[in-house]
Amino acid sequence: MQFLPFTRPSIDEDAIDAVAAVLRSGWLTTGPRCREFEAELSAWTGGRPVRLVSSATAALELALRIAGIGPGDEVITTPLSWIATANVVLGVGATPVFVDVDPSTRNIDLSRTEKAITPRTRMLLPVDLAGLPVDRTRLYEIAGRHGLRVLEDAAQSMGARWADRRIGSFGDLVSFSFHANKNITTGEGGCLVMNDEHEARLFEKLRLQGVTRFADGSMDVDVPGAKANLTDIAAAIGSSQLRRLDAFNERRRRLAALYFEHFDRSLGFELPVEDFETGNWHMFQPLLPLARMSIDRGGFIEAMKREGIGVGVHYPAMHLFTLFRRRGFRDGDFPVAENIGRRTVTLPLFPAMRDDDVPRVCEAVSRVVKAALRRD
Ligand SMILES: *Cc1c(COP(=O)(O)O)cnc(C)c1O
Repeated sequence: MQFLPFTRPSIDEDAIDAVAAVLRSGWLTTGPRCREFEAELSAWTGGRPVRLVSSATAALELALRIAGIGPGDEVITTPLSWIATANVVLGVGATPVFVDVDPSTRNIDLSRTEKAITPRTRMLLPVDLAGLPVDRTRLYEIAGRHGLRVLEDAAQSMGARWADRRIGSFGDLVSFSFHANKNITTGEGGCLVMNDEHEARLFEKLRLQGVTRFADGSMDVDVPGAKANLTDIAAAIGSSQLRRLDAFNERRRRLAALYFEHFDRSLGFELPVEDFETGNWHMFQPLLPLARMSIDRGGFIEAMKREGIGVGVHYPAMHLFTLFRRRGFRDGDFPVAENIGRRTVTLPLFPAMRDDDVPRVCEAVSRVVKAALRRD
């Protein structure tokens, strides 16, 4: 039987034709296709300014810069995310302050967030893990009460909703990723949704060497910018993918529902929140019943590979990486995130998967875990 990876992008002939047209056009880098994709994303977010960059990591870092976050500032975030979320805070010289996650949503625990606010806190940087949105109502209540900026790391939650509004169509700064594993892709890429044209112009300057161009053809540079512009080749893929986003997410929801139907709950896994209202099912992540098993997560992943099934890990709690241990973090600081980070596995879920792939995965999980149950 064919190997089933945990994710795979869906690129159709429409995207391939669009790329071929860009290649034939003679204009490869940032140009008309980027402006078109930006206009489409702006329409998709209800008319907010949106600008493209070469990755969501760049979008996050430039967002911190346009918000004026720098040395001496604290940014409150979750320890359970891709390392990019905290790296960008260090990148601008600010300090990431972690708050433990909620055991059920696995997102930053908003009931503990206010206790982490100090006079140096400038921003909240929440992450919608697996595409399940953080409670935006409470988030913006807290930000409003304390006068904080918000940067939503929505890399995983494109197409998710809160109170029947699209993530990205409201709020403060919102970043999306178009990495190959995300719900839509440009290969690599990302974008930032902003509040006004002033922010958008600052962002445009910072994403390309700090250059401001004037109508008479002259230019000036008043700040060292990044080199983070997107190519028209990538933007052409993005436009094609955006048209398919709703169908992709519908397919993901259907596959997630099949997981809940077929997963053997007697094995002792903790399943994700059974949500079909808000999230986009970027990933399906049960937590391994490690205490009952005689193998560790590595052994589980190896055994699943022998079953022909790819399993990912997203993510270990990041405060336990050497980078943060050196800054004084240690085991036990954020026990909920640590527990999830040790036990989480990402099972296959992507739009091109077939319905009958889900029971195949569930049966393999049962075989592997039953063979590894402790008999004491
Ligand atoms: C993927 C991801 C990023 C980074 O996106 P890139 O486009 O790879 O830079 C940041 N945060 C989260 C939560 C992600 O999942």
